[in-house]
Amino acid sequence: MKLDGRIAIITGAGSGMGRAMAQEFVANGATVVAVDVRTDPVAETVKLLDDGRSVAQTADVSSKADVERVVTETVERFGRVDILCNNAGVLDDYTPAHETTDELWNRVIGVNINGPFLFSRAALTPMLEQGKGVIINTASISSFVAGGGGAAYTSSKHAVLGLTKQLAFDYGKRGVRVNAICPGAIHTGMTGHLMTTEGRNPHVDAAIAATPAGRWGKPEEIAHMALFLASDDADFIHGAAFTVDGGWLLP
Ligand code: ADP
Repeated sequence: MKLDGRIAIITGAGSGMGRAMAQEFVANGATVVAVDVRTDPVAETVKLLDDGRSVAQTADVSSKADVERVVTETVERFGRVDILCNNAGVLDDYTPAHETTDELWNRVIGVNINGPFLFSRAALTPMLEQGKGVIINTASISSFVAGGGGAAYTSSKHAVLGLTKQLAFDYGKRGVRVNAICPGAIHTGMTGHLMTTEGRNPHVDAAIAATPAGRWGKPEEIAHMALFLASDDADFIHGAAFTVDGGWLLP
């Protein structure tokens, strides 16, 4: 199996893409430390995994203390960290800058970019000792263009790509590969409200209709890319950003 014996930390594993990644990784031989700020959903993920090895961790990715605790406990329990998926994220409900409160800005930046930085920094210690590791950041089509989010979301996702590139540049020769997945519109807990009558966003509806795929993506479609990037099949891939977006970025 592609990830036999690997230890993977996945953030935002309580639902959506993170849960799908956890399932894909365990199905391919990995043991997962499933991290989420919501306790019950992440416990449910581990229950679904049902592999007798994977564990749930309640942690806020924007908290340095939480992040360092998760990495320390992972190393204590499993002896290593082979894969880190920085996947936890929050939307900003397409809030334009003049309506973005300090609270909203700090929350979105805290989760979407401080989280990947804090977790990468902490996980690099065991990865550099091992001389091998893989970091996969969930970026977005909003890492390239405007309109997929508001000011805070788009800024945070551009930053995720910058972090991805710099980490890849700095650590590739020491055995750590770092890449990003850039999902388009994926139907998850985070975006579910956009499909309800109240939450419908005309911009998103029109954008999805205009894609070659013409539909929302599924979390498993992101997990397939994560499996590939986590595996040795991707050994020559460093600092890349893969769009999995049904063709949203084409026009
Ligand atoms: P998506 O799969 O599109 O990212 P979801 O909302 O389904 O959207 O999943 C995002 C996950 O990230 C949720 O389970 C959510 O609880 C989690 N999350 C949000 N903020 C944090 C945080 N600060 N720390 C850890 N996990 C978080």
